[in-house]
Amino acid sequence: MVSLNNKAVIPTKFELDSEFKFRCHPACACFTRCCRNIETLLTPYDVIRMKQRLGLSSTEFLKKYTRYAEDEKTTHPLLYMRMDAENDLYCPFVTPGQGQGKGCNIYADRPAACRYYPVGQATHRIMDDKNEQPLHDEWYVIVKEDHCLGFQEEKKWTIADWRRDQDAALYDDMNREWKNIMMKQDLPKGDKIDGRRQQMFYMASYDIDMFRRYVLNSRFLEMFDVSPALLEKIREDDIELMQFGFDYLKYLLGISQQLQLKPHVAAAQKTRIAEMRAEEDAAREARIAEAEKMERGQ
Ligand code: SF4
Ligand code: SF4
Repeated sequence: MVSLNNKAVIPTKFELDSEFKFRCHPACACFTRCCRNIETLLTPYDVIRMKQRLGLSSTEFLKKYTRYAEDEKTTHPLLYMRMDAENDLYCPFVTPGQGQGKGCNIYADRPAACRYYPVGQATHRIMDDKNEQPLHDEWYVIVKEDHCLGFQEEKKWTIADWRRDQDAALYDDMNREWKNIMMKQDLPKGDKIDGRRQQMFYMASYDIDMFRRYVLNSRFLEMFDVSPALLEKIREDDIELMQFGFDYLKYLLGISQQLQLKPHVAAAQKTRIAEMRAEEDAAREARIAEAEKMERGQ
């Protein structure tokens, strides 16, 4: 996912075999200009790659390098890379300037949005003929910003070649399920996800080390059915934990029940819901009876 400079987007839908001319290299006069004052949306996989690269916990990484926002339509938590206010709003990971030794200091682990640039990726979620499985219609746009001189070069690419060259396919595979969750917006217009779910959503998505502690050290494992084999994996492996987090998010947002409550917890929850509904019904009937009484002047 990337937040694009809409004014610079060429309004043409590019497919994998569409061609464009472009070359970016340290000798470009514009080298690193594109790493300044930008809105780079981060995905959970981006965070894992960068925090591992920097040897930080996810909590430390988020605090130091990111800023939080809410999606206007869905109120889902969004994460942006924070530009360095003390360094002319450059990305904190760039050594500005032109030539060797300049550029991205975390190049092999840069986020998906940076890999794709100047290509932008768009996804549309559609249902199949039987309306059962969501399908992803993925396409691309070209972002041609005035400062970017790479378009003056003669090197020809297809979008597929560019994706291969930038090692973007792995990122797409890691991010697809995440995008699916982020595109889910069942809330009536103007409604927000409540504060607690918002917090859990943020933690399971981005603060993976805190999420691990939550799963292992809270009452989580008393409530949810997690197999010993899966538990072993998520103790150590950030990617397994991220994917487990997606199942948790789907549970949290009522998208699907891949993650199941333990039978006795589910039964207790069902009873509690039934009791709450009965109490609500009783209260409503009492209010109606009271109103009728007043109407009759009693
Ligand atoms: S502005 Fe364009 S050509 Fe220049 S460094 Fe960035 S992507 Fe490369
Ligand atoms: S992460 Fe690297 S490529 Fe992306 S904006 Fe920062 S310096 Fe540039």
